[in-house]
Amino acid sequence: MHAPRRRGDYAPVVVITQQAKIIDGKALAQAVKADVKRRAAALRDAGRPPRLDALLVGGDSGAVLYARNQARTCRELNIDHELHRLPAAASFQDIAGRVLLLNEDANVQAIMIHLPLPDAVDTEKIQSLIAVEKDVEGVNPANIGNIVYGRRSLVPCTALAVMQAIESTGIELPGALCVCVGASNIVGKPVVVLLMSVDATVVSTNIHTTAIEALTSQADVLVSAAGVPGLVQKHWVKPGAVVIDVGIRRVQDAGGKMITTGDVAFDEVAAVAGHITPVPGGIGPMTVSMLMRNVVDAAEHARA
Ligand code: NAD
Repeated sequence: MHAPRRRGDYAPVVVITQQAKIIDGKALAQAVKADVKRRAAALRDAGRPPRLDALLVGGDSGAVLYARNQARTCRELNIDHELHRLPAAASFQDIAGRVLLLNEDANVQAIMIHLPLPDAVDTEKIQSLIAVEKDVEGVNPANIGNIVYGRRSLVPCTALAVMQAIESTGIELPGALCVCVGASNIVGKPVVVLLMSVDATVVSTNIHTTAIEALTSQADVLVSAAGVPGLVQKHWVKPGAVVIDVGIRRVQDAGGKMITTGDVAFDEVAAVAGHITPVPGGIGPMTVSMLMRNVVDAAEHARA
């Protein structure tokens, strides 16, 4: 007969819930903002105050809120902000005409266009009219072309944020296998091009990719920008990998409360990854600071 078990006879149960280091997007964004503020003050002292000119067509509530927050961030960082508003009925010619005027204005160094534009207007055509050296969102296709050719370029802000998050981990990118889930023009493709430009080995995947986990589970760096909550699960991730979650979706939690979530099933993936970005508090805040960095970059390179 076995002697009854007493307290202390059992091995302690260790529940590993998280081993990954959290990449703190808010702290990284603050560091970028501090640098931007210093550079903006230097430009101002030199009589060349940096300025962001934003174009807002119509009154989409999300765009209006974004424009308001952007103006506040600019004030905080010593950057002037001009909001140009056009009515919702503005035509392609009205909008294009305004962009061309801003391109020609020597006082304008940085231009961005709030989306959405009216349905009848070809957004990509408008974006491709923005002068390359003033295109602080990197939406003119020429700016992506410049990265491919290794020339100085204004790069889409979210892709810049992804690169900064990856580099903050100290990983050696030449020789690293990086897999990007999602291949949109504004996130996935620029991320792939930037990773290629630093000699990483890069795989681009999309909704048609078969057996995607077989690819992602080999990745030293896994970037997800699909917009599908919970897509990236534990078995998609190589132990110790850097996992960057670009996805942002509003969903209901189990209690019916609306929450913001990313593409990565955070708790289970954090148990195997080496580094991981949270949502919220990861790539989102870093993207805003990268736009401001592009504004001072453009202002520094503008002809005095
Ligand atoms: P998109 O819809 O334009 O593109 C999504 C891409 O993901 C496509 O290439 C599609 O093929 C791929 N995809 C979709 N489902 C997939 C699946 N099941 N498996 C593999 N690939 C899949 O989206 P987007 O504009 O690139 O945005 C993606 C996400 O990133 C969204 O959640 C968006 O809100 C977020 N986002 C965040 C920021 C930020 O600053 N953090 C900026 C832009 C976009």
